[in-house]
Amino acid sequence: MSNAIKLFSFRGIDIRVHITFPLILIWAAIQFGIVGRRGIQGAVFGVVVTLILFAIVLLHELGHSIAAQHYKIAVKEIVLLPIGGVAQLSKIPEQPIKELVIAAAGPLVNFGIAIVLGLLLLFFNFDVGLGDLPLTMRSLARASTSSIFAYVFISNILLAVFNLLPAFPLDGGRILRALLATRLSYSRATAIAVSIGQGMAWLLGLWGLLGGGFFMVVVALFILVGASQEGQVIRIRRVFEGLRVEQAYSRSVETLAPDSTLRQAVALTLQSFQSDFPVCEGEKLVGLLTHTKLMEAINRNSPDTFIGLVMDTEIPGVEVRDGLFDVQQQLADLNVDALPVLEDGMFLGLITSRDLNEAYRFLSKRPDLLTANQAA
Ligand SMILES: [Zn+2]
Repeated sequence: MSNAIKLFSFRGIDIRVHITFPLILIWAAIQFGIVGRRGIQGAVFGVVVTLILFAIVLLHELGHSIAAQHYKIAVKEIVLLPIGGVAQLSKIPEQPIKELVIAAAGPLVNFGIAIVLGLLLLFFNFDVGLGDLPLTMRSLARASTSSIFAYVFISNILLAVFNLLPAFPLDGGRILRALLATRLSYSRATAIAVSIGQGMAWLLGLWGLLGGGFFMVVVALFILVGASQEGQVIRIRRVFEGLRVEQAYSRSVETLAPDSTLRQAVALTLQSFQSDFPVCEGEKLVGLLTHTKLMEAINRNSPDTFIGLVMDTEIPGVEVRDGLFDVQQQLADLNVDALPVLEDGMFLGLITSRDLNEAYRFLSKRPDLLTANQAA
């Protein structure tokens, strides 16, 4: 996620905080200091408990992440946002049992923390290391430490309970989908979970609006957007089911050579329908000049710079027999609009997001359009 600053890395996962994160600390300071009329001491309390809570949110997300890694699903990063954390899994497993375990692992971490905190509360009673302090300071420290402990203890449990609400894409919603998917098809299970998620989001939002809970309104919007996005991904998957790149890619594409210039690339962009160009040496594909790369290059270089010096050589090609849905995901992951299409290493053309959008539009109206063509 852009706009997030990396703190450290754990088991190959980048731990980041979003730049808006300090907002929640300011909010906490205001809530406990000014609104709660407890002055500086209240503000400090607010900031400290919020930081501890986010450490717990991070542990919760690590719970999901480690469970995902157990199933060989890569976790790119964990981003801490003012409203909570998000672990970016490279994919969501379709096997219900895997999704269930990954979704449950987060709240389970919270219950684990609750047990540890509960035991600490029970056995130590916060007398550790306070013996040397004068009596008044001791009682003051004990009071604030125990109120921090109590606050964190309760918030941690609330966090787990909230995440277990069956509001897809919250953990509870994922557990619900996984359970439904053991009986129904994956897309049917998702559609139901998404509808329930959206219904719950409206209720939460309404509750937030009526009760003046601005925070709850933001969370409700987050659920609403998240549910519809995942619902959309599943619709695309269903529409593209069984379809391959060969049924949708663009054959007649303009190409550039490594010794073409930026000036020529700009001219070709204006004269054609294309904005991304494969770079070929004879028949052989050697790179890709994306529109973004071209814009960057003309900002930094003279118009007579060779394409070979600025093109992308890292972008992978796709095979004609690759599935359309996988390619759609690849385009999104790489954040590009086109990928070169190859057959046994031979360059054939481009598959573009425009191709995929058109295919989706046609096929969502008439699912048999491309299959009939193929049979002919
Ligand atoms: Zn979670």
